Amino acid sequence: MPPLIAKWEQILGVTVSSYYLQRMKTRWGACNDRAATIRLNTELVKKPRNLLEYVIVHEMLHLIARSHGPRFVDLLDGYYPTWREARLELNELPLAADAPLVPDGSSAPTDISTPG
Ligand SMILES: [Zn+2]
Repeated sequence: MPPLIAKWEQILGVTVSSYYLQRMKTRWGACNDRAATIRLNTELVKKPRNLLEYVIVHEMLHLIARSHGPRFVDLLDGYYPTWREARLELNELPLAADAPLVPDGSSAPTDISTPG
């Protein structure tokens, strides 16, 4: 596991079975809570580390709270208090060089979409 994921496994007390880097046009990350796998957008590796870390923490928290309900927000506030700034920054960045900005809208509960 990359050090960032290993670090957050310790902090959150969860186990990620595997992770994948993928080119994704509509989201920064995704989590399969049943398989305990997370997917990260390849574009993230070019972004500031705090943004990558936010997405990792966000996806790993889905192993504890599946939806983006109040419990999920509480967990984010507790573990990664600067998440709102990170999310804002991410929303201003294109997901891929050739991807149009994704309009506001609902997405699957385990996805970070733009604007999340
Ligand atoms: Zn999410």
